[in-house]
Amino acid sequence: MGGAQFPGDNDVAEVDAARDGEVDRRDVGKMKHGCEHYRRRCKIVAPCCNQVFPCRHCHNEATASGDRHTICRQDVEKVVCLLCETKQPVSQVCISCGVNMGEYFCDICKFYDDDTDKGQYHCIDCGICRVGGKENFFHCVKCGSCYSVILRDNHQCVENSMRQNCPICYEYLFDSLQGTRVLNCGHTMHLTCFEEMVAHNKYTCPICSKTALDLTHHWEMLDQEIEATIMPLVYRYKVFFPVFGCFATIATRSQR
Ligand SMILES: [Zn+2]
Ligand SMILES: [Zn+2]
Ligand SMILES: [Zn+2]
Ligand SMILES: [Zn+2]
Ligand SMILES: [Zn+2]
Ligand SMILES: [Zn+2]
Ligand SMILES: [Zn+2]
Ligand SMILES: [Zn+2]
Repeated sequence: MGGAQFPGDNDVAEVDAARDGEVDRRDVGKMKHGCEHYRRRCKIVAPCCNQVFPCRHCHNEATASGDRHTICRQDVEKVVCLLCETKQPVSQVCISCGVNMGEYFCDICKFYDDDTDKGQYHCIDCGICRVGGKENFFHCVKCGSCYSVILRDNHQCVENSMRQNCPICYEYLFDSLQGTRVLNCGHTMHLTCFEEMVAHNKYTCPICSKTALDLTHHWEMLDQEIEATIMPLVYRYKVFFPVFGCFATIATRSQR
C-alpha cells in the first residue's frame, strides 16, 4: 500500500488497492456516486446549454424553473469523471483513471448506471434504455413501447398507447421513470396513478370510460352472493322467455 490515505476517503484507499491489484480498477467507487436518479461515476455535459449536470433529469429539473428546456440524451458528447474530474468524450471507461463511469453503459443513450440490479437494456425499437430485464419484456410495435411478456398476444393494442401523457398526472408516459399499467381497454397510465384512482373507488378508464380492472373475481363474488340470497317468496316464480324458449327464475345476474 502506498500513498497518503485520508480517513473516510474510501476512493483513495480503493485506488491504492486497485494499484496493488486487489480490486479491479474499473470497479473503484462503484455505487458510491451519483444523484437521486442514478448511481454513476460521471457527470454529463449538457449539449444544449454546455453546463455540467449529474444526469439529464437533474438538468431538466434545474432548467424547469428558468430557461425551460429538456436535454436530448443521444446528443450528449462529453462527460466528466467524478473520481478524477477529467472531461472526456462519452465512453464507458474513464480515459484517465480507468474506472467504469457506469457499470451499465449505453453508447446510444449516453447512459450510465452502476445499479445493474435494475436490469437495464436498450430497446432498438423504443430507441431508449429501459429497466426490468430484457427477458421480461417485448416490444409491441402497434402500442409503440415495451410491454411485459405477460401481455404478449394478451392485450388490447392501442396505436401509440404509450406515446401520450398519463391521463391522471399528465406526465409523458413513454420515457417516464415510473412503472406503467396497461388497462383492459389498452390505454395506459402510471401504476401509482392507477392505484390512487382505484383507492378513490374509480374503476373506469379516464380516456374511454371502459372498466379498467379485471372484475371477473368481483362479479363471481356478486353471483355467489345472489345465489346465496333467498329470493323473497313474492319473486319466486318462473317467467317464460320466448327468445330462449325456456323458463328461468327471475334472479337477474349482474351486468358485465
Ligand atoms: Zn440544457
Ligand atoms: Zn439526476
Ligand atoms: Zn476518471
Ligand atoms: Zn440505450
Ligand atoms: Zn421497446
Ligand atoms: Zn400492443
Ligand atoms: Zn401519472
Ligand atoms: Zn381506455
